[in-house]
Amino acid sequence: MAKKKVSRTTKRIREEQSKEESLYDKLQSELHFMAFCAIKAIVVEELRQTAGTMPCILCGKDLSFFLAISNNHLHVQCTREGCIKAME
Ligand SMILES: [Zn+2]
Repeated sequence: MAKKKVSRTTKRIREEQSKEESLYDKLQSELHFMAFCAIKAIVVEELRQTAGTMPCILCGKDLSFFLAISNNHLHVQCTREGCIKAME
């Protein structure tokens, strides 16, 4: 009886952890998307360069960017693991 209760509690904890992880992933994805849009605005409107590095707006580490002239698509990659890495 007690064993079953522990199992049920463990199952509930795992479900909560899973919900938190998926919420975290969703928030991180949205944050990275917004950061990407902001970085594009900075690159296109302020830096006016097609390639280079800048401080990452999320973590402050070096972020490299490349703007393709042919289609105006941007590639960005932060040097910090787990931070933004995206392309259009
Ligand atoms: Zn970063």
